Amino acid sequence: MDSKLFIYNTLTRKKEEFIPINPGHVGIYVCGPTVYSDVHLGNCRTFISFDLIYRYLLHLGFKVRYVRNITDAGHLEGDRDEGDDKFAKKAKLEQLEPMEIVQKYTLAFRDVMRIFNTLPPSIEPTATGHISEQIEMIKQILEQGYAYEINGTVYFDVEKYSKEYPYGQLTNRKLEDLLEGTRELGGQDEKRGRLDFALWITAKPETLMKWPSPWGWGFPGWHIECSAMGRKYLGDTFDIHGGGMDLQATHHTNEIAQSQACNHKAPVKYWMHTNMLTVNGARMSKSAGNGFLPNELFTGNHPLLDKGYSPMAVRFFMLQSHYRSTLDFSNEALQASEKGFQRLMAANRILNKIKASDKSTVVVNDLTSRIYDAMNDDFNSPVAIAVLFDWVRNINSLAEGKESITQPDLDLLKQTFRTIVFDILGLVDEQSEGSKQELTSNLIDMLLNMRLEAKARKDFSTSDKIRDDLAKFGVVVRDRKDGFDWEIS
Ligand code: AMP
Ligand code: ZN
Repeated sequence: MDSKLFIYNTLTRKKEEFIPINPGHVGIYVCGPTVYSDVHLGNCRTFISFDLIYRYLLHLGFKVRYVRNITDAGHLEGDRDEGDDKFAKKAKLEQLEPMEIVQKYTLAFRDVMRIFNTLPPSIEPTATGHISEQIEMIKQILEQGYAYEINGTVYFDVEKYSKEYPYGQLTNRKLEDLLEGTRELGGQDEKRGRLDFALWITAKPETLMKWPSPWGWGFPGWHIECSAMGRKYLGDTFDIHGGGMDLQATHHTNEIAQSQACNHKAPVKYWMHTNMLTVNGARMSKSAGNGFLPNELFTGNHPLLDKGYSPMAVRFFMLQSHYRSTLDFSNEALQASEKGFQRLMAANRILNKIKASDKSTVVVNDLTSRIYDAMNDDFNSPVAIAVLFDWVRNINSLAEGKESITQPDLDLLKQTFRTIVFDILGLVDEQSEGSKQELTSNLIDMLLNMRLEAKARKDFSTSDKIRDDLAKFGVVVRDRKDGFDWEIS
């Protein structure tokens, strides 16, 4: 394949030809979930978008190192180093250790990712597993003179940094404009500049998750974890860094500043940001309370839903919009996607019924080249899907004998169609026996994890109901010390 891949780079606000730093290799870092609660569908949209990108890069033959972190410490409620620690707050609420919260929601996140058929990342590093790397980086930033310590908290000095580097470059904003958007410092503030942010935060007596450091006991700020883990696993400068658009103005802007101050190099060649999943036009978010959980969508158990949708219908719904467009969540849109997905799967099954003849009236290369054109244009999955639907029509015409195809062309068509649908788009035919079994097993695991959660919060009526309802379908559940076992009787 000699066509070139173009990626929209948020940093330059242009589509640029993708030229990896090391030929044949791609290093990609995606900001992962903050595991103090279940991921909602908005989060899933971002991870599914990067799964498509990962799959396509693999398809093109690159050796990809895909790093997606788990944020399991250092995330305060406010973006500006204020508020409670999200993990400690949830631990108190659920009467668990903070690391039990981390474990529980990490496992739940992996379940959801598996159900959506996303490929696991090559490395899934955690913030708590990389405290020494973060401390090391903070020390280096201090040595370079871009940070200062006050009472055991270390702040990044944005004003000083801005004298040498364009701090607001990722959102194309000047320092004055950024300053305008922040509140004046009050008497209780320790930091010197309004835009300064914490690299290390001193522990209070009640802080549960804390580590020793040269500045006393404390915990890392949120932004430093990604700079430290990105550098460790992908180098001072790597190819692609991604996340949702909401991370651009603060988290990623601060990541660039930290890495640049430390390494004197831009950390990332191509910045990629996914647009938001919205509900009635408003961004889906944990704090706004409009976050649909994946299992609410699968079961249809939500006041705004007419019915449940299968994981692949939801994945398909997400892929039908470009990752840089907003996607609004509605029953009508989901129903349309469900139908489209079923037509695509039906076409795949019909492919097996087509009989070859001695001449082809369809040109299979048209499918291949149009798909590459779409995907090479900044991973344009909606256009790729439209091309597939043109071919669904061709497949139906071939099955009805209105068009004809030779055996080699038919073999090529089957292989190409399936590579696109299953390997690149990552869809699964849920009606095939193997995938039905896998889906059932994943859904039972998910329900039983919900039962464990209900038990942990002493909601025994819910936990008993889940067990009894499953028993009605012949699923026998056995409680074990470390979780559960089940079998279908
Ligand atoms: P969080 O767990 O809140 O740190 O978010 C994990 C990822 O989901 C980040 O890359 C966010 O930018 C992304 N995200 C959060 N809300 C949405 C949304 N409504 N639509 C798409 N992505 C989102
Ligand atoms: Zn991050």
